[in-house]
Amino acid sequence: MPLHQPTDSIFNQLDALGHKKVVFCSDPDTGLRAIIAVHDTTLGPALGGTRFWAYKTEQEALQDVLRLSKSMTYKSAIAGLNLGGGKAVIIGDSRKDKTEALLRKFGRFIKNLNGEFITAEDVGTNPRDMEYIRMETQHVTGVPETMGGSGDPAPIAALGVFMGIKACIKELYGNDNVTGKSVIVQGIGHVGEHLVKLLREENAKVYISDINDERTRQVSKKYGAEAVSNNSIFDISADIYAPCALGSTINSQTIAKLQCPIIAGSANNQLQDEALHGQMLLDKGILFAPDYVINAGGIINCYSELMGFSKKRTMQLTENIYEATRNVLQMSKAEKISTTAAANKIAEKRIADIKKVKSTY
Ligand code: NAD
Repeated sequence: MPLHQPTDSIFNQLDALGHKKVVFCSDPDTGLRAIIAVHDTTLGPALGGTRFWAYKTEQEALQDVLRLSKSMTYKSAIAGLNLGGGKAVIIGDSRKDKTEALLRKFGRFIKNLNGEFITAEDVGTNPRDMEYIRMETQHVTGVPETMGGSGDPAPIAALGVFMGIKACIKELYGNDNVTGKSVIVQGIGHVGEHLVKLLREENAKVYISDINDERTRQVSKKYGAEAVSNNSIFDISADIYAPCALGSTINSQTIAKLQCPIIAGSANNQLQDEALHGQMLLDKGILFAPDYVINAGGIINCYSELMGFSKKRTMQLTENIYEATRNVLQMSKAEKISTTAAANKIAEKRIADIKKVKSTY
């Protein structure tokens, strides 16, 4: 997914990434300044979280929402969901600028889109904020379980990553047995901790690292995982590196050092440069499970909520990530293209196929 030049005109930027619609929301009374990007609705309504972030410039906010909404299109497409891709950003400091009035005004902008865009929580927003948005529109997911929502998506996201790890193990070792494999989990927050639990339940050897020392100690003790320093991750020889903290941890420097044959984790945008580093991993023989393929558990949870939440169905859809990952790895091998290029091809094909279905009676 090549990025547009930020100096381009707004319309050129939309054209470059193929966006359908972008809505600028401004309300001086509440201080709301938000952008909603609807990338593609071929498969269904555009679903994506609302990020509340203190962007330095409006251009930075626009660039972020355009990039993130496009990746949501691909994530839902490859997960087999009937959803398009969208995202929203609210410009501001979530700790200081967030008010009920601002969120409800934002909810009214979503309402005006008549279901073309559905939102959920993201960085800087939480289930309580979704409740405020729900007061103005039905087009919101991720509300608390007590309000009929699907609750915390992290355990489901972790299950999807676990399925992705198993698919990679199958590709390299011929069976998908996690027992005895060694895994470095970087970032043991909501998703990371649940992943550690799943891995330890199947007797994997787990190394953990986090910038939060107290949390590292607790998780290490609770699950019998070995704590390692963040600086030493790329010096450890293990079977799997699972980035579950921030993006861009896979770059030219870390690829040169990395001693794991598999990378599979939950963090979004793990490759600093998708094309360059995807190819470098292919050349070095490292199997990379594209993040948007294996971290789709969160969006699957939202989708289930729209369909009338069923835990069983959510787990089934999430377990399908195993097959989706296998398909990506097999295409990558057969066509000698990076796993990310393969995932993009599969997602684009599904959208193109369904577009044809919808254009005929
Ligand atoms: P979180 O904030 O709960 O956890 C992140 C953890 O990473 C924290 O414990 C933090 O201390 C640690 N961390 C931050 N910087 C670090 C660094 N430099 N080195 C090591 N550890 C560091 O977040 P989360 O909800 O667990 O999500 C983790 C990642 O997975 C994010 O990239 C998120 O976008 C992605 N993701 C989350 C979900 C979900 O449902 N929560 C779904 C899909 C993708």
